[in-house]
Amino acid sequence: MNETSKPLIGYATTADSLPSSGSALTYLLAGNGIFASATRPSIEVLMPVCLSNQRIKGLPRLTPYLNITPRIPKELLLEVWRSSCNACTESNAEILFHFHKQDTEWELHTPKQTQNPTSCQPTELGSHASHYQAVVEIHSHAAMPAFFSRTDNEDETGFRIYGVLGRVNTTKPEIQMRVGLFQHCWNIPAKTVFDIEPDFFMTDVSVLSGCQFYSTDLPHANVLESLWS
Ligand SMILES: [Zn+2]
Repeated sequence: MNETSKPLIGYATTADSLPSSGSALTYLLAGNGIFASATRPSIEVLMPVCLSNQRIKGLPRLTPYLNITPRIPKELLLEVWRSSCNACTESNAEILFHFHKQDTEWELHTPKQTQNPTSCQPTELGSHASHYQAVVEIHSHAAMPAFFSRTDNEDETGFRIYGVLGRVNTTKPEIQMRVGLFQHCWNIPAKTVFDIEPDFFMTDVSVLSGCQFYSTDLPHANVLESLWS
Protein backbone atom coordinates (compact mmCIF):
# COMPACT_ATOMS: atom_id res chain seq x y z
CA MET A 1 0.00 0.00 0.00
CA ASN A 2 1.44 3.33 -1.01
CA GLU A 3 1.56 5.48 2.12
CA THR A 4 1.29 8.70 0.19
CA SER A 5 -1.60 7.87 -2.11
CA LYS A 6 -5.10 8.94 -1.18
CA PRO A 7 -7.48 6.02 -0.55
CA LEU A 8 -10.58 5.46 -2.63
CA ILE A 9 -13.34 6.14 -0.14
CA GLY A 10 -16.84 4.65 -0.08
CA TYR A 11 -19.83 5.38 2.17
CA ALA A 12 -22.70 3.09 3.12
CA THR A 13 -25.11 2.23 5.90
CA THR A 14 -25.74 -1.18 7.39
CA ALA A 15 -29.14 -1.02 5.70
CA ASP A 16 -27.33 -1.35 2.36
CA SER A 17 -25.91 -4.59 1.09
CA LEU A 18 -22.23 -4.34 1.94
CA PRO A 19 -20.33 -2.41 -0.69
CA SER A 20 -18.37 -4.17 -3.38
CA SER A 21 -17.18 -0.96 -4.97
CA GLY A 22 -13.49 -1.78 -4.58
CA SER A 23 -13.01 1.18 -2.27
CA ALA A 24 -9.85 1.05 -0.19
CA LEU A 25 -11.78 2.45 2.76
CA THR A 26 -15.52 2.34 3.37
CA TYR A 27 -17.31 4.25 6.12
CA LEU A 28 -20.35 2.44 7.44
CA LEU A 29 -23.14 4.12 9.40
CA ALA A 30 -24.59 1.55 11.81
CA GLY A 31 -27.15 1.53 14.62
CA ASN A 32 -24.35 2.10 17.14
CA GLY A 33 -22.08 4.53 15.34
CA ILE A 34 -19.68 4.91 12.44
CA PHE A 35 -17.19 2.23 11.47
CA ALA A 36 -14.41 1.97 8.87
CA SER A 37 -14.08 -1.18 6.81
CA ALA A 38 -11.19 -2.32 4.62
CA THR A 39 -9.55 -5.46 3.33
CA ARG A 40 -6.20 -6.30 1.80
CA PRO A 41 -4.65 -9.73 1.30
CA SER A 42 -4.43 -11.37 4.76
CA ILE A 43 -6.19 -8.56 6.64
CA GLU A 44 -9.85 -7.74 7.07
CA VAL A 45 -10.88 -5.02 9.51
CA LEU A 46 -14.00 -3.31 10.71
CA MET A 47 -12.88 -0.68 13.19
CA PRO A 48 -14.84 1.80 15.28
CA VAL A 49 -14.48 5.45 14.25
CA CYS A 50 -17.20 7.06 16.34
CA LEU A 51 -19.49 5.12 18.71
CA SER A 52 -22.90 6.62 19.44
CA ASN A 53 -24.55 6.64 22.87
CA GLN A 54 -27.83 7.15 21.07
CA ARG A 55 -29.29 4.46 18.86
CA ILE A 56 -29.41 5.34 15.17
CA LYS A 57 -32.93 4.16 14.48
CA GLY A 58 -33.56 1.59 11.82
CA LEU A 59 -29.97 0.44 11.38
CA PRO A 60 -28.43 -2.82 12.68
CA ARG A 61 -25.57 -2.55 15.17
CA LEU A 62 -22.07 -3.66 14.21
CA THR A 63 -19.37 -5.39 16.23
CA PRO A 64 -15.83 -4.41 15.18
CA TYR A 65 -13.26 -7.09 14.34
CA LEU A 66 -9.84 -7.75 12.89
CA ASN A 67 -9.11 -10.92 10.94
CA ILE A 68 -5.55 -11.76 10.03
CA THR A 69 -5.12 -15.14 8.41
CA PRO A 70 -3.23 -17.05 9.51
CA ARG A 71 -1.80 -15.46 12.64
CA ILE A 72 1.98 -14.95 12.56
CA PRO A 73 3.94 -17.77 14.27
CA LYS A 74 5.33 -16.99 17.73
CA GLU A 75 8.84 -17.96 16.59
CA LEU A 76 8.96 -14.96 14.25
CA LEU A 77 7.99 -12.57 17.06
CA LEU A 78 10.74 -14.09 19.22
CA GLU A 79 13.19 -13.55 16.37
CA VAL A 80 12.12 -9.88 16.23
CA TRP A 81 12.73 -9.60 19.97
CA ARG A 82 16.17 -11.25 19.74
CA SER A 83 17.27 -8.93 16.92
CA SER A 84 15.87 -5.93 18.85
CA CYS A 85 17.89 -6.97 21.92
CA ASN A 86 21.04 -7.22 19.78
CA ALA A 87 20.48 -3.76 18.23
CA CYS A 88 19.86 -2.32 21.71
CA THR A 89 22.93 -3.94 23.25
CA GLU A 90 25.30 -3.18 20.38
CA SER A 91 24.33 0.42 19.58
CA ASN A 92 21.24 1.38 21.64
CA ALA A 93 19.46 1.61 18.28
CA GLU A 94 15.91 1.13 17.09
CA ILE A 95 15.35 -1.47 14.38
CA LEU A 96 12.59 -2.00 11.83
CA PHE A 97 11.01 -5.28 10.64
CA HIS A 98 8.51 -6.16 7.94
CA PHE A 99 6.27 -9.21 7.65
CA HIS A 100 5.36 -10.32 4.14
CA LYS A 101 2.85 -12.98 3.19
CA GLN A 102 4.26 -15.53 0.76
CA ASP A 103 1.50 -17.91 -0.34
CA THR A 104 0.24 -19.19 3.01
CA GLU A 105 3.41 -18.47 5.00
CA TRP A 106 4.58 -15.37 6.83
CA GLU A 107 8.12 -14.19 6.16
CA LEU A 108 10.15 -11.86 8.35
CA HIS A 109 12.31 -9.26 6.62
CA THR A 110 14.76 -6.77 8.05
CA PRO A 111 14.81 -4.03 5.40
CA LYS A 112 17.79 -1.85 4.64
CA GLN A 113 17.44 1.08 7.01
CA THR A 114 19.00 3.95 8.85
CA GLN A 115 19.10 3.43 12.61
CA ASN A 116 19.73 5.56 15.66
CA PRO A 117 18.51 5.57 19.29
CA THR A 118 15.24 7.37 18.45
CA SER A 119 14.47 6.40 14.86
CA CYS A 120 14.69 3.71 12.20
CA GLN A 121 13.68 4.40 8.61
CA PRO A 122 13.69 2.17 5.53
CA THR A 123 16.04 3.41 2.83
CA GLU A 124 14.11 1.87 -0.11
CA LEU A 125 10.52 2.98 -0.77
CA GLY A 126 9.68 1.96 -4.36
CA SER A 127 6.94 -0.47 -5.35
CA HIS A 128 9.41 -3.39 -5.24
CA ALA A 129 10.73 -2.44 -1.80
CA SER A 130 10.04 -4.42 1.34
CA HIS A 131 8.26 -1.40 2.82
CA TYR A 132 5.69 -1.36 0.02
CA GLN A 133 4.83 -5.05 0.36
CA ALA A 134 4.79 -5.24 4.16
CA VAL A 135 1.44 -6.27 5.65
CA VAL A 136 2.74 -5.96 9.19
CA GLU A 137 5.47 -3.56 10.30
CA ILE A 138 7.16 -3.59 13.71
CA HIS A 139 9.91 -1.45 15.10
CA SER A 140 11.81 -1.52 18.36
CA HIS A 141 12.11 1.37 20.81
CA ALA A 142 15.19 -0.33 22.29
CA ALA A 143 15.24 0.36 26.06
CA MET A 144 12.35 2.86 25.90
CA PRO A 145 8.68 1.89 26.52
CA ALA A 146 6.44 0.59 23.73
CA PHE A 147 4.12 3.37 22.55
CA PHE A 148 3.24 5.04 19.26
CA SER A 149 5.21 8.26 19.19
CA ARG A 150 4.45 11.40 17.21
CA THR A 151 7.07 10.30 14.68
CA ASP A 152 5.35 6.92 14.41
CA ASN A 153 2.00 8.66 13.81
CA GLU A 154 3.57 10.77 11.06
CA ASP A 155 5.19 7.74 9.41
CA GLU A 156 2.37 5.21 9.74
CA THR A 157 -0.27 6.58 7.40
CA GLY A 158 -1.11 3.55 5.23
CA PHE A 159 -3.29 0.50 5.73
CA ARG A 160 -1.42 -2.20 7.61
CA ILE A 161 -0.80 -3.53 11.07
CA TYR A 162 1.85 -1.65 12.99
CA GLY A 163 3.67 -2.60 16.17
CA VAL A 164 6.27 -1.38 18.64
CA LEU A 165 8.48 -3.36 21.00
CA GLY A 166 9.83 -1.59 24.08
CA ARG A 167 12.12 -2.25 27.06
CA VAL A 168 13.54 -5.04 24.93
CA ASN A 169 16.59 -5.61 27.10
CA THR A 170 14.55 -6.63 30.14
CA THR A 171 12.82 -9.84 31.18
CA LYS A 172 9.48 -8.07 30.73
CA PRO A 173 9.60 -6.52 27.27
CA GLU A 174 6.56 -4.55 26.08
CA ILE A 175 4.57 -4.86 22.88
CA GLN A 176 1.90 -2.60 21.42
CA MET A 177 0.05 -3.35 18.17
CA ARG A 178 -2.47 -1.34 16.17
CA VAL A 179 -4.34 -1.42 12.92
CA GLY A 180 -3.64 1.72 10.93
CA LEU A 181 -6.20 2.57 8.27
CA PHE A 182 -5.21 5.82 6.58
CA GLN A 183 -4.74 7.50 9.98
CA HIS A 184 -7.70 5.84 11.69
CA CYS A 185 -6.05 3.71 14.37
CA TRP A 186 -7.23 0.95 16.66
CA ASN A 187 -4.92 -0.51 19.29
CA ILE A 188 -5.33 -4.28 19.30
CA PRO A 189 -4.13 -7.19 21.46
CA ALA A 190 -0.89 -8.77 20.22
CA LYS A 191 -2.58 -12.17 20.33
CA THR A 192 -4.88 -11.14 17.45
CA VAL A 193 -1.78 -10.83 15.22
CA PHE A 194 0.62 -13.41 16.66
CA ASP A 195 -0.04 -17.03 17.53
CA ILE A 196 0.94 -16.64 21.19
CA GLU A 197 -0.42 -18.21 24.34
CA PRO A 198 -2.54 -16.14 26.80
CA ASP A 199 0.32 -16.01 29.35
CA PHE A 200 2.96 -14.95 26.79
CA PHE A 201 5.76 -13.20 28.67
CA MET A 202 5.59 -9.78 26.95
CA THR A 203 3.49 -6.98 28.48
CA ASP A 204 0.71 -6.10 26.07
CA VAL A 205 0.36 -2.32 26.32
CA SER A 206 -2.74 -2.21 24.07
CA VAL A 207 -4.66 -4.47 26.43
CA LEU A 208 -3.47 -2.61 29.56
CA SER A 209 -4.64 0.70 28.08
CA GLY A 210 -8.04 -0.53 26.91
CA CYS A 211 -7.48 -1.02 23.14
CA GLN A 212 -8.47 2.55 22.23
CA PHE A 213 -9.41 3.81 18.79
CA TYR A 214 -8.36 7.27 17.63
CA SER A 215 -7.24 9.34 14.67
CA THR A 216 -3.74 10.61 13.98
CA ASP A 217 -5.17 13.06 11.43
CA LEU A 218 -6.20 16.63 12.31
CA PRO A 219 -7.59 17.07 15.83
CA HIS A 220 -11.33 16.75 16.28
CA ALA A 221 -13.19 20.09 16.16
CA ASN A 222 -15.98 20.66 18.68
CA VAL A 223 -18.73 22.23 16.57
CA LEU A 224 -20.92 23.02 19.60
CA GLU A 225 -18.22 24.88 21.52
CA SER A 226 -18.87 28.35 20.11
CA LEU A 227 -22.38 27.84 18.74
CA TRP A 228 -24.33 29.55 21.54
CA SER A 229 -21.73 32.08 22.69
ZN1 LIG B 1 8.35 4.42 17.43
